[in-house]
Amino acid sequence: MKEKIAFRDAQKECIDGQALRKYQLERLKETVGHALRTPFYQHRLNKVGIRSSDDIRSLKDLERIPFTTKDDLRESYPRGLLATDMKKVVRVHTSSGTTGIPTVIYHTQEDLDNWTELVVRSIVACGVTSDDVFQNMMTYGMFTGGLGLHYGAERLGALVIPSGSGNTKRQLQLMKDFRTTVVHATPSYMFHFSSKIGELGFTVEELNLKKAFLGAEPYSENTRKKIEEFFKIDVYNSYGLSEMNGPGVAFECIYKTGMHLWEDAYILEMIDPETKKNLGDDTQGELVLTTLCRQATPLLRYRTRDLTTVVKGNCPCGRTHRRISRIAGRTDDMLIISGVNVFPSQIEQVIMKIPEVGNNYQIYLAKEGALDKLTVKVELYSKLFSGDLQDLERLKRKIQDELRASIVITPMVELHEPGSLPEFELKAKRVVDERIKI
Ligand code: AMP
Ligand code: ZN
Repeated sequence: MKEKIAFRDAQKECIDGQALRKYQLERLKETVGHALRTPFYQHRLNKVGIRSSDDIRSLKDLERIPFTTKDDLRESYPRGLLATDMKKVVRVHTSSGTTGIPTVIYHTQEDLDNWTELVVRSIVACGVTSDDVFQNMMTYGMFTGGLGLHYGAERLGALVIPSGSGNTKRQLQLMKDFRTTVVHATPSYMFHFSSKIGELGFTVEELNLKKAFLGAEPYSENTRKKIEEFFKIDVYNSYGLSEMNGPGVAFECIYKTGMHLWEDAYILEMIDPETKKNLGDDTQGELVLTTLCRQATPLLRYRTRDLTTVVKGNCPCGRTHRRISRIAGRTDDMLIISGVNVFPSQIEQVIMKIPEVGNNYQIYLAKEGALDKLTVKVELYSKLFSGDLQDLERLKRKIQDELRASIVITPMVELHEPGSLPEFELKAKRVVDERIKI
């Protein structure tokens, strides 16, 4: 970053409100200057009277800029949003989207250095030091979870084990032999991991695990607790998206009171996804981000589709970067079931609170005649599954009642044996929606 605000030290990286706004304005002007080099932004910005960075006079001018969406990025595939000479580009990443054309983000060496600094800062915030042994169980490759964290942990001076995702037995062996203290994974993989550990002949006690950074997909506070209790570790929520680099956009500190969003690298806005109007703090809305330190692919007012809230008050750690709450869902994964809006995360929150429920579940939607039918399939712990039929019926009703209380729909509940629902090594596909096929 030009003025190197990205200090690693927890206290030094804080800047007060006024200094931050001044800094953000300078960086925004520069970013608009970069963006104007792309035909896409030139067209968009000229339309609203922005022809050079001098047309940005205050942070309020940001509101004149139209939003950028994932579709805009897709339509610009593969080079439409490249703002530098290709000679300066040293890496390309794409989103992990499973459908359609991916979104492409180019990086110059300076872009990568800035990203790495943000990752260093993030992991320092949860107490990682150069003494740690870091095992990165995220997929390496186009997905940003692998290389993003990798370079940050290396720059901090930790010992990095680039194990990538999958092959649980090998992961466990590496973890045991190299005395891994910190891991990075998706919550789904961490659950899968916990179910395999005994079967593969290992115990939690013989590992030296202390912390995990879990992210890349939504999970509930109860899921965090379950993983923390199982492994006897601290779990920190890590938020990022490939369009904004990847991990290192917002990260929890040791106090776990929401994720500090690094405001010297991104301008944070919260909008109502319907009216697209800016919302104040402490109202849930869609997070909109503008990059402030990216040359190759600057993005202005990018609609993340992620629903969150700005956390009120100061964090006990002293950092002044505002925090965002756990992602409640996406504006585009919201399910409409019999006319009711339901987020998969609401369902997860309910079932993960029920002690008999194991680690895996699936939300299944189908049509019964003209009506929507929601089935929630949950795995139980094995001991319970072979128990009394009446007890199982009671449990089913309990899950059903608790779900009804939260989502206002009465779902069918199916109880499954452990290991019988599909497991995922990267991001889980929790929702199967068969309704559209009918
Ligand atoms: P990708 O660009 O493929 O890495 O996907 C980014 C998306 O993953 C984000 O926009 C979020 O919807 C989701 N995501 C990333 N981190 C988290 C997290 N900690 N909690 C919930 N969702 C997350
Ligand atoms: Zn904090």
